[in-house]
Amino acid sequence: MSGYDVLIVGAGFAGIYAAWRQARDGRKVALVEAADFIGGNLNSRPWNGFWLDNGTHNFDIRTPLGEKFFLDILRDKALIFEDQKWATTSGSTWTYGFEFPEFGVDHPQKARQIMQEMVGIAAAPSKDDPDDYATWYRQSYGATMADSILPMVQKYTGSPVDDISVDARGLLGMFTRTRLGSDAEMIALKEADQFWDDRLSVTLACNDARFLGKNVNKRFAFPAEKGLKGFCEAAEDRLKELGVDLFKSAPVTKIADTGTGVVVQAGDHSIEAPVLFWSLPEIGLSKILGIDIDLAKSAIPVGTSFFVFEVAEDSVLGPDYLHDYTLERVPFRYNKAGIYGNQTKADGKTFVTCEVPAHPGALKSVATQETSDKAWQALLDVGYLKPGTRYSNRTFWGHPVAYTLPKVGWRVDYERMQDEIRARSERIGGIEFGYRGRLSFMNFYQDKLQERLR
Ligand SMILES: Cc1cc2nc3c(=O)[nH]c(=O)nc-3n(C[C@H](O)[C@H](O)[C@H](O)COP(=O)(O)OP(=O)(O)OC[C@H]3O[C@@H](n4cnc5c(N)ncnc54)[C@H](O)[C@@H]3O)c2cc1C
Repeated sequence: MSGYDVLIVGAGFAGIYAAWRQARDGRKVALVEAADFIGGNLNSRPWNGFWLDNGTHNFDIRTPLGEKFFLDILRDKALIFEDQKWATTSGSTWTYGFEFPEFGVDHPQKARQIMQEMVGIAAAPSKDDPDDYATWYRQSYGATMADSILPMVQKYTGSPVDDISVDARGLLGMFTRTRLGSDAEMIALKEADQFWDDRLSVTLACNDARFLGKNVNKRFAFPAEKGLKGFCEAAEDRLKELGVDLFKSAPVTKIADTGTGVVVQAGDHSIEAPVLFWSLPEIGLSKILGIDIDLAKSAIPVGTSFFVFEVAEDSVLGPDYLHDYTLERVPFRYNKAGIYGNQTKADGKTFVTCEVPAHPGALKSVATQETSDKAWQALLDVGYLKPGTRYSNRTFWGHPVAYTLPKVGWRVDYERMQDEIRARSERIGGIEFGYRGRLSFMNFYQDKLQERLR
């Protein structure tokens, strides 16, 4: 099959977004997907009358790019939240804010100690970045902060921190802006100096637009029915409406550059186009192209387990999302997707979810009844549910790879891989390092990919 302007492999978020942009620009798109459904990670599983998602997905519509895309796909099936409630805790209280450890309330003495050490760092001459994240962290924030945060990073990633490259600091950005005092104190420091502005956070309650905008996501959309499955179904309908040819159950097994285009073998189909966008990690591409570099060796995979409990809606006290930085409790975060996803049944029952990260190799020992018991206790201990609440049903599952972190030294193999791919064909493009998240992928498309797919 030919006559396409662009061929896109993988119909996860990245493939769907790229296909939507290309088709809206009037280009003829072939979108090829191995599974018999689209959406990849963005899919939900049916359980007990509910649709359950992998994690805490929701759609960020703060930016014009996000708003245009998600609302064009979801249309009248979009629930819009102008004030999505995020909170964090590193102890017994939670504070409204987006992804920052809160030492100011729960551990004031530690917060003072950290501040003193950071004053010393601010006054010292700056040092070159080391290769590893842990040393960089210690160097940038001091020993007390590092000793507190690095175990949290371990909890969040399910792996020891020693091998993590300094290049993971963007991905782990939630650990780099703690709150060490009241909003007024934080604002005074942030106003005073870039050093503090880069390293401190404020809560949503501070209402200071200068500092809120940087790290607070409040405006979100969510599908009005079926969780993320609702998004995947709406995306499929919309792509077809825009004239995208979607090939499902068509895993790509061969790719060849013909000199004028690229031909892929996808299931029973042979499809040709002048350019190919490989929306998946390079690992799969390298196997198909016969490149002998194992990128898996330079990445730390982060898997996660989900524990879901059916409870009465009026027993849920927590915000939409709660990030739990307390090392004593196993879940890293909690959400009430059942409520914000419009999934409360006629009998008043909905569901809440906890997420426990783990290395994929350890998932079997984490996705267990025993962890489910601990997760349930944590929901009560952190105050996410009313004391004395009981669940009527529960389930859990493990998700092998939610994302990967670069290992120290990752760049050498990564760049060799890019050279090898280019040597085989200049017509194949992928996603550059650091752009795989939804918001960052949309920026990547806007700034770089759309030009490359011309
Ligand atoms: C638990 C969890 C929580 C997350 N939370 C967030 C979040 O809060 N915010 C955020 O921005 N991101 C989040 N992410 C990441 C986000 O889900 C991903 O960035 C995004 O969904 C990945 O999309 P993708 O297209 O890159 O990959 P995928 O979703 O993996 O899609 C790849 C697609 O390619 C198909 N495929 C594979 N091999 C082939 C082949 N040979 N031929 C054809 N097709 C093939 C697969 O079947 C799949 O459909 C989370 C991810 C997980 C798992």
